[in-house]
Amino acid sequence: MKKIGMVLTSLLLAVGLVTGCGSTAPTATPTATPTAAPEMSADLKAIKDRGVLKVGVKVDVPKFGYKDPKTEKVEGFEIDLAGIISKKIIGTEKIETQAVTAKTRGPLLDSGDVDLVIATFTVTEERKKSYNFSDPYFVDGVRLMVKKDSGFKSLKDLDGKKIGVAQSATSKKAIEEQAAKVGAKVSFLEFATYPEIKTALVAGRVDCFSVDGSILFGYLDDSTVILADSFSPQDYGVASKLGKDGLKKLVNDTIAELKKSGELDKMIQKWGLK
Ligand code: GLU
Repeated sequence: MKKIGMVLTSLLLAVGLVTGCGSTAPTATPTATPTAAPEMSADLKAIKDRGVLKVGVKVDVPKFGYKDPKTEKVEGFEIDLAGIISKKIIGTEKIETQAVTAKTRGPLLDSGDVDLVIATFTVTEERKKSYNFSDPYFVDGVRLMVKKDSGFKSLKDLDGKKIGVAQSATSKKAIEEQAAKVGAKVSFLEFATYPEIKTALVAGRVDCFSVDGSILFGYLDDSTVILADSFSPQDYGVASKLGKDGLKKLVNDTIAELKKSGELDKMIQKWGLK
């Protein structure tokens, strides 16, 4: 026992000596490595320096992006999202909105008129070749609106009928695929804006008005009905110019935070979506 104790003591002493060596050596004043503030990418800095985030939004989609004709104010879920993103970049909520349609939103990004498009813009593989898209912040199916007195109950009943869709929208392709599945043959009339499609439906120039349900519900009235069919889920993403990767990352981080904190769900509820 005594021998083991002695061995242990000498071992401990040895360790003590070894560790002690360092402490007896002259100590140099530690030079603090400066912690550099994270560099803001050039695309973000340009927006911060300008002091305002330019966003392409819908003005004819109630609850998403809608211009109140009385107040002239543009408001909705997507406008709120734009405000939150601007605060992340600039420090205060500062956005300048520009009205877009399905047809104009891409060209407005290309020309640099807007930094972002937040306008019920569905993320597709094809579109990803032309623009940066964020992770989705909302998902919705394509739906069909008909006149109540038409008697149509489903897409199958629209065999031989004409459907009104927006130019440059995903709707036409989605309906073509679904119509093939249910065995209906339909034709299309394309319009620049949603109010025009609604007018065409009321006037009987088309038998059906089709687009994402969230957009369609803004046009529902006593004379029309939205059928139960819902197909081709549409993931809405925030679009920016290809190459502006700092901006894309900031938008993605913001969306991820909003999802994690439950704030995104609160915004969806606030606007009565879903
Ligand atoms: N969300 C669809 C699209 O991106 C419908 C059209 C629209 O957003 O206006 O094509």
